[in-house]
Amino acid sequence: MALNFISIFRRHGRQYVKDLRKAVIPEGFRGRPVISMEITPAEEKVAEMLCPTGAITSGPFRLDLGKCEFCMECCFATAGKIRFTNDHRLAANLREGLLIRKGEDKTIRINPELVGKEIRSFFGHALRLRQVSAGGDNSAELELNACGNVNFDMGRYGIEFVASPRHADGLVITGPISGNMAEALQICYDAVPTPKIVILAGTAAISGGIFENSPDLIRSFIGTVKPDLYVPGNPPHPLTFINGVLDLTGRK
Ligand code: SF4
Repeated sequence: MALNFISIFRRHGRQYVKDLRKAVIPEGFRGRPVISMEITPAEEKVAEMLCPTGAITSGPFRLDLGKCEFCMECCFATAGKIRFTNDHRLAANLREGLLIRKGEDKTIRINPELVGKEIRSFFGHALRLRQVSAGGDNSAELELNACGNVNFDMGRYGIEFVASPRHADGLVITGPISGNMAEALQICYDAVPTPKIVILAGTAAISGGIFENSPDLIRSFIGTVKPDLYVPGNPPHPLTFINGVLDLTGRK
């Protein structure tokens, strides 16, 4: 029996990502996009027209990661002049930080000057989060769940999801915020003690995504509360989320 277990352990190898800060996702992952300077005006126009969420706009030409569904239509239409790298560090604490301009090829980073002092002093060693699925499709929720599994083990940094907002230091919102969830979200936010942080996880939470113009959304919450962290992705990768939270809270 014991020998069986040893042979299984040998076959499986190491099950956890040893260093989440240095982990690299293989090529093929749709991470931070890069727009080549060689893109022609005609290609820009086609990409803008094809983009299902209006993430691509011209004048100046740019791609908004907060609206991007990572569908790759713009890559196919521009023969790779818009391409997605395997860089998973996409989280920003400023909405404008998610805008990718032509010729830019640098990792997106948190601006530490915009992080409130209380965030780092209160939550720099431990952070409890309550997740609210506000009309989500379970994709971002599934990836957030994966943050705590044996591979990513976010708990090693003292970051965990909790059941009650009264035990939480902040909210992680997924989904485009449907009308049915708007009041529940507000109640949940009010129940979290101050100081508290708000994280928008996934394209739907950041902008509404493909549902942006739906009359069934009530997104006034985002207008009244300033989010502390935007984590793009459809859905966001666990490494994107964990590294974003670690950067926000000032963890090395
Ligand atoms: S990958 Fe993003 S930017 Fe490109 S077409 Fe799809 S949604 Fe638009």
